[in-house]
Amino acid sequence: MSFQSLGLSQALLKAISKKGYTTPSPIQAKAIPPILEGNDVLASAQTGTGKTAGFTLPMLHLLAEKETLRHRPVRALILTPTRELAAQVFANVKEYSEFLDLRSAVIFGGVNQNPQVTKLRQGVDILVATPGRLIDLANQGELSLSKIDFFVLDEADRMLDMGFLRDIERIMKMLPSKRQNLMFSATFSKDIKKLAQGILNHPVHVEATPENTTVEAISQKVYRVAKAKKTGLIIKLISEGNWKQVLVFTRTKHGANKLTKTMISSGITAAAIHGNKSQGARTKALAGFKNGRVTVLVATDIAARGLDIPLLPHVINFELPNISEDYVHRIGRTGRAGADGQALSLVSADETSYLTGIEKLIGERIDVEIVEGFEPDPNASTEPIKQGQGGRNRGQGRGGNAKPSSKSSGGQKSNRRNARKSNANRN
Ligand code: AMP
Repeated sequence: MSFQSLGLSQALLKAISKKGYTTPSPIQAKAIPPILEGNDVLASAQTGTGKTAGFTLPMLHLLAEKETLRHRPVRALILTPTRELAAQVFANVKEYSEFLDLRSAVIFGGVNQNPQVTKLRQGVDILVATPGRLIDLANQGELSLSKIDFFVLDEADRMLDMGFLRDIERIMKMLPSKRQNLMFSATFSKDIKKLAQGILNHPVHVEATPENTTVEAISQKVYRVAKAKKTGLIIKLISEGNWKQVLVFTRTKHGANKLTKTMISSGITAAAIHGNKSQGARTKALAGFKNGRVTVLVATDIAARGLDIPLLPHVINFELPNISEDYVHRIGRTGRAGADGQALSLVSADETSYLTGIEKLIGERIDVEIVEGFEPDPNASTEPIKQGQGGRNRGQGRGGNAKPSSKSSGGQKSNRRNARKSNANRN
């Protein structure tokens, strides 16, 4: 399979080869043909699968084939849940459309709207946007979506997790009824299926799991450790391992800040990335991490979602996520493109039930290690600790200890929903 055989234009093939891609990834091979044929597509794919090119390339191909209108109304709208993802998708759109006469722009909140408005007034064919700023600018009359040919909903599951359902519905009302719709999601809950039904018209379903959803290329390890000794242990691991690029996950924004501060005072260059950081601070932290100036990036789940950090050697879960699927997303960032990666988790007694849930999901036991001087606390409770901030529902009904929760599986879905809600607050 080659990009040529997919029927993409010469201008796109040139951009693809400039990016250094030689073969389409599985999601690209599956999604590009039905999109080029004009179908709506519902794709199950997460970051790291090449999904962005999967929808962008055929969309650009079709847009470039159509006549450009003189005032350049927006013809393609790509909605993303986070600012980072919007910026990344936009960067991709720019690169892939380098040899085409198409204009693109990105709009998101947290930054001054004036440059975005100026750009929109000049005429834009492809708009990448987060929901809030899009609605603001549409309400201000700065943009019309009445000429949309393509509507892409990226990371639809995160959109719902972050409470964007109402906004999506509002945006849908601004779109013309005749259009091609593409929806991407890593997971397919009942809510996502319902949303898809409302948006898509006889969609073609395509699916791709990342090459290393866990297991193969990633070596996983759990360090059982007392909660109070986690910071000491993570600093020891990073310093003694002399690791140069480490992505660390914490459950809360506050936790991310605190850990980052302690690392910096221990001589490790670290930066935090989460929902309370300004856009400028987040972009700077990510750029520093990518170019090697920042050794450790401490992130919350939603902030890290969709970040394009290729070939990451180390991911550390400073705390386990309470949603098992988030573990798979987190560690899926290591060992991309066949390179080996290491995913380590620091697990204290109160996280025992989360570990059990994760092992059940991935279908394997993760090796456990205990480091001398950083032993677990034998007297600590295995009850999940309730978080003050937005964490009311955390762990409810999951069983307070290591018991597998087969009995409570009926209630697990709603627990997960509750947990997701509180996660949206946390990130
Ligand atoms: P995505 O899942 O869209 O975030 O893409 C993940 C990473 O894969 C990005 O760094 C892309 O630049 C890269 N990528 C996308 N398509 C290909 C391809 N066909 N060959 C190699 N790398 C690719």
